[in-house]
Amino acid sequence: MAFSPEDFPERLERVRERIRSVANTAGRSPDSVRILPVTKTLPASAVCTAVAAGLDMVGENRVQEAVAKMKEVDLRVSWELIGHLQSNKVRLAVEHFDRIQSVDTITRIEQINRHAAEADKRMAILIQVNAGRDPAKFGADLSQAPALLERALSCTNLRIDGLMTIAPLSDDPEVARHTFARLRSCRDSLEQRFGCRLAELSMGMSDDFESAVREGSTLLRLGSVLFGPR
Ligand SMILES: *Cc1c(COP(=O)(O)O)cnc(C)c1O
Repeated sequence: MAFSPEDFPERLERVRERIRSVANTAGRSPDSVRILPVTKTLPASAVCTAVAAGLDMVGENRVQEAVAKMKEVDLRVSWELIGHLQSNKVRLAVEHFDRIQSVDTITRIEQINRHAAEADKRMAILIQVNAGRDPAKFGADLSQAPALLERALSCTNLRIDGLMTIAPLSDDPEVARHTFARLRSCRDSLEQRFGCRLAELSMGMSDDFESAVREGSTLLRLGSVLFGPR
């Protein structure tokens, strides 16, 4: 289905309304939850639409597709990599993205740090955790999260903002809610153990963002609910 930019402001307002309602019930400030519009597979004009509506970041899941769009649009917007990162794309990703959310192995941490040092940059990252224990998803096992964080904290060219997860596909909304609760408690115990702040919890997509807000999400990665079905 074609993306229609004229529907975007109203779709965004409806999403904000839903966020406000859940946040109020959960005793959270709606301002503590940000929206990351996901523009993967959409034309570069979708980035302009999001920026025109006042959003200041976009999520992309393929490095080359995103870099092509960056060259097409000349806008002040933060680019976040949310898709799996292959070894041979690390350099390109580090050079072009403002943050990489999909960091899930020690090897990748070391590669990103090395390329960030070469680019004279401090690269912001999130550690992706497979908090839903879904064999179909990327992300470090919950049990590996401490080792990854420990390695990342020792890398001078990295800034670790927090954690990211993708909930398993399920008809049962409790599956997503439990996944998000596990990510938050993983974050809480990592903060305690390492004495660091991991403020960002990137969790929640179009089909499960309300339970993510309930469980403490600070960043919702939203594609179809904002732009229409892909
Ligand atoms: C595509 C994608 C999203 C957005 O998905 P929707 O269901 O369209 O909201 C969020 N996170 C990741 C990692 C994605 O690849």
